Amino acid sequence: MEFQKLYNNNTNYKLGPDCVKYCICERKRENVIVCSRCKQSFVGRISQRCPKHPEVTFLMDARQCAFCGAHANFLKVSETKR
Ligand SMILES: [Zn+2]
Ligand SMILES: [Zn+2]
Repeated sequence: MEFQKLYNNNTNYKLGPDCVKYCICERKRENVIVCSRCKQSFVGRISQRCPKHPEVTFLMDARQCAFCGAHANFLKVSETKR
């Protein structure tokens, strides 16, 4: 019973009303990530839990800034469209 309680807390996402559960496992890795703390940028993916596969972790994904080590909260994908 206690495990269930914990699990529910963990999955308490702040999802928008029209946020559909879609798989992000296959999203592209060529994004430019900008760190809002040190203003450096690098190519990769920000570590995100897939809404469909929350148990899957991608070790290659950035959990923190490659330069200053800032938490993933500081990282933003720069959407540069050509
Ligand atoms: Zn997935
Ligand atoms: Zn940084």
